[in-house]
Amino acid sequence: MTTKTARKPRIAIAGFAIESSTFSPHRAGFRDFPIVDGDALVSRYAVIAPGTPLRDAAHWLPVLGARAIPGGPVLAEVYADIRGRILDGLSALLAEGPLDGVFLDIHGAMSVDGMDDAEGEFVSAVRALVGPDTVISASMDLHGNVTRPLLESVDLITCFRLAPHEDAWETRDRAIVNLVDCLRRGTSPLKAWVRVPILLPGEKTSTRVEPAKGLYERIPAVEADPSVVDAAIWVGYAWADEPRCNATVVVTGYDEEIIAAHAESLARAFWDVREEFEFVGPPGTLEEAVQRALASETTPYLISDSGDNPGAGGTGDVTWTLAHLLDTPELTGEDSPTTFIASIFDAPAIEILAGHEIGDAVSVDAGARVDSGPHGPAHIEGILENFTAGDPAGGRIAVIRVGGLRVIVTEFRKAYHDVADFLALGLDPEAADIIVTKIGYLEPTLYDVQRGWTLALTPGGVDQNLERLGHHRIDRPMFPFDGFDSEPALDAVILP
Ligand SMILES: [Zn+2]
Repeated sequence: MTTKTARKPRIAIAGFAIESSTFSPHRAGFRDFPIVDGDALVSRYAVIAPGTPLRDAAHWLPVLGARAIPGGPVLAEVYADIRGRILDGLSALLAEGPLDGVFLDIHGAMSVDGMDDAEGEFVSAVRALVGPDTVISASMDLHGNVTRPLLESVDLITCFRLAPHEDAWETRDRAIVNLVDCLRRGTSPLKAWVRVPILLPGEKTSTRVEPAKGLYERIPAVEADPSVVDAAIWVGYAWADEPRCNATVVVTGYDEEIIAAHAESLARAFWDVREEFEFVGPPGTLEEAVQRALASETTPYLISDSGDNPGAGGTGDVTWTLAHLLDTPELTGEDSPTTFIASIFDAPAIEILAGHEIGDAVSVDAGARVDSGPHGPAHIEGILENFTAGDPAGGRIAVIRVGGLRVIVTEFRKAYHDVADFLALGLDPEAADIIVTKIGYLEPTLYDVQRGWTLALTPGGVDQNLERLGHHRIDRPMFPFDGFDSEPALDAVILP
């Protein structure tokens, strides 16, 4: 180890992340994965920003970061291409000298056509390339899945502790700090791993509310144990039908018995509250949501069109909700409440709208080009109120007024999860009576602006009603799909 500590360590940075619903007909292609490299990749992580102690403690070597917004499975050729570019980049770094560490920014719920454990395959390939002596530290989403091949390929692994993920960058920074600490110490820790046979949607496991709040609040006390490096709880990803999908606990540290006891205690705590998980917002049918919104004395009233939430993997062009709202006379009259509805993507429809002037009467069929399962294209007849170009995600975007409705149509997939997304179109959420958007639990700015909310249980690729989707390949028995004749063992497996 003397040679290692005598010089500045060389640490590579790479990322490859998407959350993929295997129930979504969307396929993630090259356009879905913006690529970041060079200084821009290193600059993402505050803990190694210029002027920080860690910046000078190592040579930070950017390889490539590819992160898509959630969607359907990744096309096999796209996965192979990005994986190949990352491995080539690591090979080039190895040709220049030894690599002491690799930080991997991954999600854990990437599905690839024809594969069951994409992250396990990817990280195993990284391990095979760099060899056993390079310290690999992975940062994940708590909605990711953890398999033995993945765990066996990393030295360190952690995940977010908040949902919504307000600690996403803090988590990545922690994974980087743990990597550097491990290099300084000169030996890698052990991992205590417990699979927990629970599979729940994120909308029932937000850490804003109990019981997830209290469960995750147990982590700091575990981590305060001097034998523990990191403690992590994964909820897992409910919208993939893969054998790896379930909850997981991993406690990392240097004392086998102590980390096993902590991991088993966190897993037991998770199991013990399993019956208490409920939807984070008041759930309801879309009809119930609209009636509550119309009756609400406070505004804006928010409706989550949760089954097609692109932030969880929904396609984003399911028209089921839009068609229902267009069919609701209380919303389409000239005196109807101001209702924003976001959004449907449809490039050909945008092409038609691009030929019009603001203020024109327009008539267009939109949506359901990718996911037409729940409903066919929606027929929109109204006044073109706004048309913008150049949105990094959505491309060209139109707002069509139909009575009180403001229907947002985008050229490409885009999530409307922030107040700023609406403001960019001249639509002020504070001034709206009702906001309908494709989202599950509310991200912070929308959470703050709403004065009433229903989580509408609408159909789509991330249907909150898991039984409506049908899982066939997950491990059984699994709560809440099955009854349990006896308590699961929840014994920790120790991995080097
Ligand atoms: Zn997540």
